[in-house]
Amino acid sequence: MFTGILSGGIIAKAVGKGLIEVRVHNLRDYTSDKHRQVDDRPYGGEEGMVFKPEPVFAAVEGVRTSPGTPVYLLSPQGRTFDFRQAAEMAGRPQVVLICGRYEGVDERVAESLATDEISIGDYVLTGGEIPAMVIVEAVSRHVPGVVGKEGSVRKDSFAAGRLDYPVYTRPREFRGMTVPEVLFSGDHKSIEAWRRRRALEKTWTRRPDLLARLDLSAEDRLLLDDIRKERNAP
Ligand code: SAM
Repeated sequence: MFTGILSGGIIAKAVGKGLIEVRVHNLRDYTSDKHRQVDDRPYGGEEGMVFKPEPVFAAVEGVRTSPGTPVYLLSPQGRTFDFRQAAEMAGRPQVVLICGRYEGVDERVAESLATDEISIGDYVLTGGEIPAMVIVEAVSRHVPGVVGKEGSVRKDSFAAGRLDYPVYTRPREFRGMTVPEVLFSGDHKSIEAWRRRRALEKTWTRRPDLLARLDLSAEDRLLLDDIRKERNAP
């Protein structure tokens, strides 16, 4: 499953340039029995299979380069992964992600091996591989040099605690829909002001939770008052 992101695109380029390293480990390589068994039936008589603790502990202890390396168990029961956590992980020399499958992973992994459990959202996937790829991609964007134009990461949604402003490209008119005039004005100050307003407006309408956490400048507060008035909101 990992061949996709490791053989093309932004991750493959970053690996090629030596900016990041992504290693995929097979739990079966950390078993000691003839059948290389990594899973077993759950105690208590439920359906399905559960990852055994021994190969997971052995794998993590084998790949971790320092006892301080954070180890994250991917699980729908974990804390929801976000932009801030991606940025924080990007500053680490190494991060270990454990992908579960089937019914999940023996709880002793969460209790005493993992630093934390991470979920990528309130839904259940078949395995932790896609969540791991989501995390690898999101974290890599914060590593200097991975994204061509560093500025684009700084202005992305969430970077400044708000959503990004809307963007348009050619044609100027499409099916009767036009591009805002200000973008053709060549007046950088007006364009900047428009973008700031639209980013605030989007955040206010779609993600008031983000806005509540923002330490808004006096200028942004005025802008927000203006947006509220325009929309007849309290
Ligand atoms: N029985 C588990 C539960 O309800 O919490 C779900 C197990 S799920 C089918 C199998 C594996 O997929 C999990 O161990 C986890 O590694 C991964 N997984 C599924 N959904 C996920 C999510 N939203 N975020 C992170 N990992 C997830």
